[in-house]
Amino acid sequence: QSQELSHVRIDYHAALLALQEQGTRMVCTGKMHTDRICRFDYLCYCTEAEEFIFFHSNASVMLPNLGPRRFQPALLDLSSVEDHNTQYFNFLELPAAALKYMPKPVFVPDVTLILNRFNADNLMHIFHDDLLPIFYTMHQYTDLDDEARLVFMEGWGEGSHFDLYRLLSSKQPLLKEHLRNLGKLMCFTKSYVGLSKMTTWYQYGFVQPQGPKANILVSGNEIRQFASFIMDRLNITAEERPEGDDYIVVFSRASNRLILNEAELLLTLAQEYKMRTVTVSLEEQTFASIVQLISAASMLVSMHGAQLITSMFLPRGAAVIELFPYAVNPEQYTPYRTLASLPGMDLQYIAWRNTMEENTVTYPDRPWDQGGISHLEQEEQERILASKEVPRHLCCRNPEWLFRIYQDTIVDIPSFQEVLREGLKVKPNLKKTKPGNVVHPGRVRQPKCQTSVQAAHEAKLSVSWQIPWNLKYLKVREVKYEVWIQEQGENTYMPYILPQQNYTFSENIKPFTTYLVWVRCIFNKNLLGPFADVLICKT
Ligand code: UDP
Repeated sequence: QSQELSHVRIDYHAALLALQEQGTRMVCTGKMHTDRICRFDYLCYCTEAEEFIFFHSNASVMLPNLGPRRFQPALLDLSSVEDHNTQYFNFLELPAAALKYMPKPVFVPDVTLILNRFNADNLMHIFHDDLLPIFYTMHQYTDLDDEARLVFMEGWGEGSHFDLYRLLSSKQPLLKEHLRNLGKLMCFTKSYVGLSKMTTWYQYGFVQPQGPKANILVSGNEIRQFASFIMDRLNITAEERPEGDDYIVVFSRASNRLILNEAELLLTLAQEYKMRTVTVSLEEQTFASIVQLISAASMLVSMHGAQLITSMFLPRGAAVIELFPYAVNPEQYTPYRTLASLPGMDLQYIAWRNTMEENTVTYPDRPWDQGGISHLEQEEQERILASKEVPRHLCCRNPEWLFRIYQDTIVDIPSFQEVLREGLKVKPNLKKTKPGNVVHPGRVRQPKCQTSVQAAHEAKLSVSWQIPWNLKYLKVREVKYEVWIQEQGENTYMPYILPQQNYTFSENIKPFTTYLVWVRCIFNKNLLGPFADVLICKT
């Protein structure tokens, strides 16, 4: 089944000859191990030693050739999680001549993408760390097409949602254990190693407490394009819903972090918004049927947890309501808030937290990984039980965090309603929300300044410019210009916002002074263009 390599027959002897004579060739992008992706011809993997092998010959290429810096700390990150020391990739080196003494290589003829999945049993990690990065790494290299082969080297079994990985290419992904069954020395004819981190928006708190990544490079547009690809592959068609047939999805968890008064919550939502409500859970429905429902919902309500990654399938204009158990501060756990708030996701986000201790149900006697604390010292247990908020902490085994995040919750209806009324200033609105305009202005053209001296203490500075070149092709609601005037040698400047293309400044303009003037265009209040070359204006 899965382990059949290809329908493409390759000429074994030609491949072997090429490996022996050319050795391995590697060319990478990226300055650092954290942003590197490498392309290889004839990268091999020894399944007994569990090591990748680079065969040196006269024709082999290794770029970058880092020497021993290749081990400081590694050539690249094999997962999309930045600089995680269990996710490093490197290879051993051998002369191609050693092939004579080695097991006969088995060639993988497909173009392969080799990577580590980060946590294949958690839906949030599957999407954020694996599927999105794989999808966009494949878009970066044209030969990583629908025929490409994914190879997962982290060493786990399929995990709980392997079908989702199967959507990314027409070929069955290979696991490390499959490689072992296929041969002792596997050689990848053409492979890419590593993942793009361009689409990730969250860091899990390995070096500082968890939170949004410092430099987010993805927008809602790319997330939504990926989401439509997944829906396409799941054979889900975004249905046109008749006017008035709006509904709310409550995503519940069946085994832990429960909403204990779910029926009451559903009733409240139905009454408040005059909409149908439906409950889904990963235990009850297929993933595809859940996505189908969410893709046309007006609102998604759920406890904090991995299932909330499905908010990426909500239509524009929908609302995400995330519930947090007692003593968990929503400000500190924001993977879903950050997702909903990406520019162009066009989702409303609201967090509700349980502040009433009598409404929480704790599980001190569970195993530690489900939030149990009875293994801790008595004093520590008492401290945790008395604490009203989990202090900031690092990933991943903080017992107080696990204890609190695995509580069940009775959602206090009045406070829930209050948060919703306060937060949902506008009703969730699906029909009217169109993708926003994200075209930035070009530079203003032909900026000029003219000066005149009126009197010993009076001068004028006239600045004019032409509209940006792209403006004549655009319908823009509001076009404004920003002018910065700085007296040469001073480190402050005066900013002005102007609706027109010229202006004569006379306040605070001194005679016989040099001013530096910058001009840029702004669309719709917040789409900033670049500044034109600085004008040097002498009065
Ligand atoms: N999960 C679930 N039902 C439950 C509890 C968990 O379907 O009652 C799923 C959850 O969506 C995630 C995985 O099991 O994909 C691991 O859940 P965990 O609580 O470890 O992670 P979290 O949801 O906090 O990210």
